[in-house]
Amino acid sequence: MTAHCGTLYVISAPSGAGKTSLVAALLERDPRLRVSVSHTTRASRPGEVDGTNYHFVSQDVFVEMIGQGAFLEHAEVFGNYYGTSQLWVNEQLALDRDVILEIDWQGAQQVRRLRPDCVSIFIAPPSLAELRLRLERRGQDNADVIDRRMREATAECSHHGEYDYLVLNDHFEDALADLLAIARAERARTESQQVRHPELIRGLLSPG
Ligand code: GDP
Ligand code: ADP
Ligand code: 5GP
Repeated sequence: MTAHCGTLYVISAPSGAGKTSLVAALLERDPRLRVSVSHTTRASRPGEVDGTNYHFVSQDVFVEMIGQGAFLEHAEVFGNYYGTSQLWVNEQLALDRDVILEIDWQGAQQVRRLRPDCVSIFIAPPSLAELRLRLERRGQDNADVIDRRMREATAECSHHGEYDYLVLNDHFEDALADLLAIARAERARTESQQVRHPELIRGLLSPG
């Protein structure tokens, strides 16, 4: 058992299910959570900010970083590389912060192997038809990219059974409430509370 009590969350979903919007809302409501900013070789979308949405890097830099062991996990998704910074995640957990990784199912499998105590959550859309509508309404990807993401959606969903929690994002506020409840329940786990409140527990066990 590691000494920190921060929880590592892994959140996956087919593209367009609402993962990014839900995590953004979750961070506003729960100040103890932090989200990892991934490195990617994908081109930035209009409005995306380097260092905030992603660290946008060239393929050469990404490959060099793999060689340096900079990534906790990395994967190729939709023809682009994505990876999670090992150093940043370790620093945050050591500071007892809860860390969220928004990563695909391949990355989730790698993190589960390396950190069996992580908590994984799959976010599902109410239907494939609604998923396509959300991708179209988001208005950030062209028709080819949307078609590709829809083709990959079923593959991503086929891994839902590997996750600890399955959250349905039909009504946004209900899905957000589920995520807040998960974070709250995980924080109340006995082994986390023992690390967080050693004095309190010692006091309870020593009468007089
Ligand atoms: P969006 O989820 O539709 O907004 O699309 P993104 O371009 O933000 O993400 C593309 C895919 O890459 C998704 O499946 C993400 O879960 C995945 N992804 C993002 N960051 C990481 C990461 O650091 N590691 C891994 N393995 N996958 C990532
Ligand atoms: P992801 O990060 O999983 O690709 P986004 O958070 O970008 O997904 O959401 C995709 C689109 O769907 C966005 O335009 C978002 O505003 C919208 N959206 C998210 N959740 C819901 C919901 N419950 N109902 C309707 N639209 C939603
Ligand atoms: P987008 O290109 O739309 O921003 O992201 C597409 C997919 O890449 C999403 O499903 C997202 O979860 C995944 N993704 C983003 N960052 C990472 C990462 O660092 N690692 C992995 N494995 N997947 C990621």
